[in-house]
Amino acid sequence: MKNFIEIYKKIKAVSPEHHFEFTDDPFWILITTILSQRTKDKTTDEAARSLYNKYGDCASLSKAKSPDVKNIIKNVGFSNVKSERIIEASKIIKDKYGGKVPDTHDELVKIPGVGSKTANIVLSQGFKIPAIAVDTHVFRVSNRIGLINARNPDEAEEALKKIIPPEYQIEFNPVFVEFGKNICKPIKPRCQICPINASCDYFKSYYFEKNKK
Ligand code: SF4
Repeated sequence: MKNFIEIYKKIKAVSPEHHFEFTDDPFWILITTILSQRTKDKTTDEAARSLYNKYGDCASLSKAKSPDVKNIIKNVGFSNVKSERIIEASKIIKDKYGGKVPDTHDELVKIPGVGSKTANIVLSQGFKIPAIAVDTHVFRVSNRIGLINARNPDEAEEALKKIIPPEYQIEFNPVFVEFGKNICKPIKPRCQICPINASCDYFKSYYFEKNKK
């Protein structure tokens, strides 16, 4: 079995955490994460910041008009659907939860537009509660290294929970996402400069063999 902590420390050394830049408020982390789906980071950050500057809080955003929100977030993917969702989510958080984002996975996934990954990002990044958000980078990198052997994000989350100590779960997603963007890229991973290539199954079984020929 691989030593997660040893691998993680090496990854973290080359992948500083990417924090939400303008806020640590769970509500805005939730909105930003909904906006981020299928959207580049820069576009997401700009849209989220603009919404935050105009509306400021959940109560205000819950009363926003859909065309106004749509216009502000027009550069993000699926802006039509997302504008409806974030207004609806704001209304539910205001009316059902008294304006405070719930801090349990079960309650979070009842909110429209919030799946398991988004819920776990809100828990870990907004509330600092251990939770593992499996996105495309976490899924790819964890499988490539051989930390897990999962067929889908749900399996990956369950497998990762068993090997990542709770105190590492809070920062795990941002660190692995940065590593996945910069070094263990989807296409052409930068294995030669990777600090964990000696521990990586992909490197050993595929990359190394290929370059031997
Ligand atoms: S050795 Fe290559 S495949 Fe393995 S983690 Fe590093 S970059 Fe990714």
